[in-house]
Amino acid sequence: MDIYYKYSDYLKNKFNEKVYKLPINLPITCPNRNGCISFGGCTYCGEDAAGFECLPSSLSVKEQILKNKEYIEKKYKAKKFIAYFQNYTNTFLPLEDFKKYISEVNLPYIVDVSISTRPDCINENYLDFLKDFKYKTGINITIELGLQTSNYHTLKKINRGHSLAEYIFSANMIKRYNFELCTHVILNLPWDTQLDTKETAKIISAVYSDHVKLHALYILKNTKMAEQYINKEFEMLPMEEYITRAILFLEYLSPNISIQRLIGRAPKEKSLFVNWNTSWWKIKENIEKKMGQLNTYQGKKFDYLNGSALKSFNHNEPIK
Ligand code: SF4
Repeated sequence: MDIYYKYSDYLKNKFNEKVYKLPINLPITCPNRNGCISFGGCTYCGEDAAGFECLPSSLSVKEQILKNKEYIEKKYKAKKFIAYFQNYTNTFLPLEDFKKYISEVNLPYIVDVSISTRPDCINENYLDFLKDFKYKTGINITIELGLQTSNYHTLKKINRGHSLAEYIFSANMIKRYNFELCTHVILNLPWDTQLDTKETAKIISAVYSDHVKLHALYILKNTKMAEQYINKEFEMLPMEEYITRAILFLEYLSPNISIQRLIGRAPKEKSLFVNWNTSWWKIKENIEKKMGQLNTYQGKKFDYLNGSALKSFNHNEPIK
């Protein structure tokens, strides 16, 4: 038995072969950066947002797809791909523009469209269009929501501009449309405790998220968090604590949720702190190794939904 449910296994089962993501960078922004909610953005977000590995947004969607595809096709002999609208908030644009961009990925080798956005930037107008697009093209739809933590006090501290409620609402709405949901989490935000780690796993399981992407906090230069880090307003948790939290998170997470990533990465030259100066794959290996040593696995403590207290309720005994 695998100790956790890998996204690559999920894709292989669903599409019968390996599938690769093609990142797409649109010329858009985010309401937390352009003044709609705030000008500052999330305190950890750098000027490129999540687009470190993306091509310039001046290229058309098709050009980006073809360029990225050419490289991956050659390297891995890949045949099926996911069009991944990765950077900034990909539903924070006029509906007609959104429709135009999404329609451009209706290509024979695209099997899924993954759209990254914020929990407060999705509504039925966008989802109705995607439902229609899915019906007409047969292309799978996945929405990626940034949650980061279930601790709404921490969400306020990092200036996310939304709280937990928006995530729960959007997650339920996305699932009602039968789309897949991927949730992004930062496991070691300095103000969070292990209790928050557990609760985040429980909430993500309770809303039936299909996938999860885990990140360790990195400190990008010229961000609000960089300023706080330099002024020693918080301390980074040690790597061992990240490993402990990743394991705890997986134990509480539903075994049906696939793991897209156990840890993220950021370019060293743009960061003050990234992954304890350790390569991401080494940390991933250490998490897997420790899980083996502890004889634990994803979902080991997934026993809290569906009237869990009733499991120990004895119907034959009088109520005391
Ligand atoms: S929501 Fe995303 S793009 Fe917007 S400020 Fe936060 S991290 Fe950056």
